[in-house]
Amino acid sequence: MKRILSFLFAFFAAAMVCGGEKTTTLLVEYAAASDAQGAQMETLELPPGKTLAVASRWDDTNGDHYFMTEALAENGWKGTFYLNRVDDHYRDKVVKFMVENGCSVGSHTNNHPWLGSLVPNAVWQEIAENRVSLEAALDLPVSTFTFPFSLPGTLNDPDFEQKIGQMLVRAGINGLAEPPKVQERAKLDPKECVTCWLFRADDANPQLEVFNRTFDQGVQELEAGNLGAMGPFFVLGVHSWQKKSGPDGFQRLSKILATKAHDPAIWYCNVDEYCAWRHNFLNAQISRKSTGKKTVEFTIKRATPASVGACVPCGLKITPAPKSVSVKGRPLDVNPDGSFLLPAKNDLPVKIGLMTAENGFTSEKFPGLTIQTGVDLEKNVLHCEVSAENGKPENLVCTVRLPLRWKNGVQVKPVRLDANGKTTFDLPLGELDEDPVNACDALYVVNQCDFRLNGEPMRVYSTVTLDQPEIQQAVPRTTAMTVGVCNEKFFDAEKLAASSRPSAELQDLGDEEFTNWVPCDRSGKILPYVMECHIEWSGGMAVYAVQFEADAQNAADCMFKVTDPYNMKNVFLNGEPVEVHHHGITLKAQPGVNRLIYVLKGAGYGIRKSEISIKKEDGEMVKFVPFAE
Ligand SMILES: [Zn+2]
Repeated sequence: MKRILSFLFAFFAAAMVCGGEKTTTLLVEYAAASDAQGAQMETLELPPGKTLAVASRWDDTNGDHYFMTEALAENGWKGTFYLNRVDDHYRDKVVKFMVENGCSVGSHTNNHPWLGSLVPNAVWQEIAENRVSLEAALDLPVSTFTFPFSLPGTLNDPDFEQKIGQMLVRAGINGLAEPPKVQERAKLDPKECVTCWLFRADDANPQLEVFNRTFDQGVQELEAGNLGAMGPFFVLGVHSWQKKSGPDGFQRLSKILATKAHDPAIWYCNVDEYCAWRHNFLNAQISRKSTGKKTVEFTIKRATPASVGACVPCGLKITPAPKSVSVKGRPLDVNPDGSFLLPAKNDLPVKIGLMTAENGFTSEKFPGLTIQTGVDLEKNVLHCEVSAENGKPENLVCTVRLPLRWKNGVQVKPVRLDANGKTTFDLPLGELDEDPVNACDALYVVNQCDFRLNGEPMRVYSTVTLDQPEIQQAVPRTTAMTVGVCNEKFFDAEKLAASSRPSAELQDLGDEEFTNWVPCDRSGKILPYVMECHIEWSGGMAVYAVQFEADAQNAADCMFKVTDPYNMKNVFLNGEPVEVHHHGITLKAQPGVNRLIYVLKGAGYGIRKSEISIKKEDGEMVKFVPFAE
């Protein structure tokens, strides 16, 4: 063991660390000079001998992930568990067990919202803060993500999916355990962010037939060349709901997993491991120079484990197969076909702290260390003050991660501390994106600080949340009225039609409190075109009223849509009922102010959200008008 350790030490001392990347030089020897002249080195898509990578994905902070981990481990499978918030008990009882069995943790947002209802700054905070708080709570890297519900499109912003893709990359996410179409819709660069073939066994009622059928579909897609963007990567998912089918649900799943266990051609990995491997496969840079008649020197530059979130070796192949490959005189094990593994030095942070204004920018994990981050919005500058009393952080690199309010999403700054362990710096944040939607809701800014302390890799997140003045726009969020959630017994088509005349008073539908018309929630966290009913009452219908303006030229047809068209019950415009179509409703608008009332049925308890889109023929949004106070 000691010999192996000293070997590894010598090996890694040879590599040069440089801003999230590592450069290694390999000396390759041949028996014949002609072989050396033609020698080439390439990265491998999978470890030598493997034809497929198989992982699994399990969502939400669920105590039954413990049993899922057991079922996976029994069969040599691994998985990544996509969590929301976690407490210490969950960390100690469940996450510890996952990690002991080779599994990893991914991000699934703080609060599991339907992201399509939120403004970009709120989406950003759900994604970025979840990664930060999971890493700090668990002392584990979190670098892959799954969507709560799924990737949301919105009616009013055709670029919303792409914006979410940008936010994921800005937050430091390099993989999604999501199907191929998500990559296209979010316009993710396959070199930056990996997706997968997602297959299933039916979470609530595990069945071998479903497992085999969805796996085999993936094999067909792979053979047809349709999975080029993510490579040969299959992920089973998505919920630990197996007990819904009976107390033996996890045993049934385990038996299904056993049918594809211990296959020598499969690499059983977690999602983070595959994404880190794939990153090297696609992005590692190789250069070559001849150093003698029978020797060639290859240099490879690849990402460090800390920068990609998992510690995996890099798979390489040299053709023709050489006599030997060595790094600083130390030989590597090379297969007869010239393939081999180049190990990575594990520089994943051993401790991860979170410093915010609430804890005075300190952390119990790092006594004596303060990293204070602030943003001056007027000067458009980030200000950082570092002070270390016991033990000086070395190789400190600050990675600033920003919401879409700024055009440049990630800035990296190496920082040097003075002899007293202190430094301050200002970082200009660059050009702002002036889209008014980015001026809605608070700005969450992450300063990710990676450093070494007593030789060990560490990470501290210093974060700040900045309020923005709410902008005034005439949009449904700020102008609509609602009587929802309303009991169906108070539904009265005549009253609603009468109330939809622009000059009429909005008539109450019943005598109970929740049937009174009230302004929609004005939260800056929801999209301008999303209306929210906050009435905590179960069942019934949600009734909304909005007003919009049409000029004489554009008074003809407007297209009206909501996110959940199949729940549309009734629509009234300017005193008359309108025919309901699920794929969009044509409104015959009149010049001047128009009043629209619509009723959605089947409202769940608690918060009801509906996204409204009313466009003129050219696709331009109509101008919304507030109700008179
Ligand atoms: Zn979920």
